[in-house]
Amino acid sequence: MTNHYIDIPDTPLMEAARWGRAVMGPAEFIYPHAKGWVINSLDKPYNLTQLTVKRLTAIFRSPLEVSPTCTTSWPERLKTQRTIPWDLLGPLIHSPVTTTKDIHSWFKCILHRGMAVRRVFPMDGNSHCRLCDTFIERIEHFADCSQLRTTFEPFIKLLRDMGITGQFDDATRLLGCTPSAHDLTYTPLPNGPFSLLLILWKFIILGLTEVDTNNTKYSADKVWRLTLTRMVERCNALCYTHQLRVRRAMIRGTTPPNPSKLTKTLAPIARVDREGHFHYSQSFVMLARQHLGDNLRLEQAPQLPDAASKPFSSTIAFVKATT
Ligand SMILES: [Zn+2]
Repeated sequence: MTNHYIDIPDTPLMEAARWGRAVMGPAEFIYPHAKGWVINSLDKPYNLTQLTVKRLTAIFRSPLEVSPTCTTSWPERLKTQRTIPWDLLGPLIHSPVTTTKDIHSWFKCILHRGMAVRRVFPMDGNSHCRLCDTFIERIEHFADCSQLRTTFEPFIKLLRDMGITGQFDDATRLLGCTPSAHDLTYTPLPNGPFSLLLILWKFIILGLTEVDTNNTKYSADKVWRLTLTRMVERCNALCYTHQLRVRRAMIRGTTPPNPSKLTKTLAPIARVDREGHFHYSQSFVMLARQHLGDNLRLEQAPQLPDAASKPFSSTIAFVKATT
């Protein structure tokens, strides 16, 4: 109460046009009305007051947007009729497990086919693979190269040990998806192995580059040692951040963070319990211990049982109903 009174003139009251909470003036003198016009160029209609710089940028950008060429070139390169689920692969690329530096090499060199392969840039006139020296070096050859088999075998074995069944082909090694047994599509790998694959590619690309630039011998052991060191670092970082949030919630008496999102991010490599403890799969810990030995520093609670007996993607058996 201000005890301040205003005399309203004896004139007809007019409806006010508003922009958010602000009054623009009498509605009949304002044009265009903020809520009378909508933009239909986006995912849903937005009126003028809902336009932000981000939405306006999206509208101006939309006529110039085209699908990345990789979405059409990869099925041709892989000689497959199967549909690659780009919409499902996209959200997997940026994960809390990895940073931009972890995914950038794969994103640029493999996904967008930017790698300087010898087919395009021959080394002293030789366009054969820098490892096997048998086939023309193309990006898709790396998935098949006999010299890279020892690099990919531990990854495929890890998938099988963690209960991921089915066939694994070049698309699994290059793009992180497996051919579906039911139709002509591919299914993305679960989040944890997908992130591990991108880190693996980071160090494969580093190793391949060093062969041609430093004349260094490619070593699958070195690639795996670096890959698992990085993966363990990132897992420990997630563990530390999550446990910090759990402790903060306990001190403040607030709701602790939900571990299900983090579990999905790492599944099936690790599971996070309500207390914020990380339980890793036995297969992953065995692989990490094999390559890191006593240098393995994984913040972990008791391990998960081996999931090999429980397929990751099980089929539904339909039986005839009985009355
Ligand atoms: Zn080769």
